[in-house]
Amino acid sequence: MAVSHYDLHCHSTRSDGLMAPAALVARAAERGVKVLALTDHDEIGGLAEARSAASAARIELIDGVEVSVTWRGHTIHVVGLRLDPHHETLLAGLASNRSGRYARAERIADALARQGVPGALEGARAHVTNPELVSRTHFARFLVESGRVRSTQAAFDRYLGSGKPAWVPHQWAGLEEALLWLKGAGGLPVLAHPGRYSLSERDEQALLGSFRDLGGAAIEVVTGSHAPHTYGVWAERARRFGLLASVGSDFHGQRDAYRDIGDLPPLPSGCRPVWQAF
Ligand code: AMP
Ligand code: MN
Ligand code: MN
Ligand code: MN
Repeated sequence: MAVSHYDLHCHSTRSDGLMAPAALVARAAERGVKVLALTDHDEIGGLAEARSAASAARIELIDGVEVSVTWRGHTIHVVGLRLDPHHETLLAGLASNRSGRYARAERIADALARQGVPGALEGARAHVTNPELVSRTHFARFLVESGRVRSTQAAFDRYLGSGKPAWVPHQWAGLEEALLWLKGAGGLPVLAHPGRYSLSERDEQALLGSFRDLGGAAIEVVTGSHAPHTYGVWAERARRFGLLASVGSDFHGQRDAYRDIGDLPPLPSGCRPVWQAF
């Protein structure tokens, strides 16, 4: 089993992951990861527990988060690494991102009801492990459990994904705002899974350019969200835009069809890894 020593993107029960922070860290250590970043969605409440577990397991924990951002109408995710988890502006910003989630969930449930799927709010809530963080993943788990679809991926393809019948437009933080929070807290901003956004080529160039100009540090090149044959494309874009390259499984739990923790090939040659900036 080849395991990357670095895994800089994963989720715990503080957002939409299936494992508690301590269990997640223990799993990472068992699998040979030496440097792990916990990056829950819009939430850093799992870091303290993860930190004690990491010290017990003798691995390095990087304080991280994955911020939801709206850019030109698209939802974009920005990971922050090595941030100060006590920084007031960051904490207030993340709280404001979380505060809209419940009303959004009600609208998603209404849209599902119109699609002939009643009871989705209660159904999703049964999977929620942090009351401030109801996410589409929780709806996807409800849709699978109730037999509406066969996999979480199918739940996104049929109902929850962008442009699908239960898609609800939502205004997250702006890109500039999110980068100000992360940089204010001393963090390194990393554009998460850039291959997942279905942007036009023009928008993609504009996003990478703006991200770098606003102080972005890196993009994810090797991630569970990129097909392996595209790693080289993202490595080349990182080089072209003067950005470092990051690696992260985006692990949410064994039940979900994501990469396991540390299950990551090395960065393509020529990449400058983000940990050069640690
Ligand atoms: P939210 O922040 O509520 O919009 O939920 C975003 C989360 O949904 C992501 O972090 C993933 O965990 C999950 N997700 C988004 N798109 C997909 C997809 N196509 N397949 C599976 N999970 C997805
Ligand atoms: Mn997620
Ligand atoms: Mn993401
Ligand atoms: Mn993620």
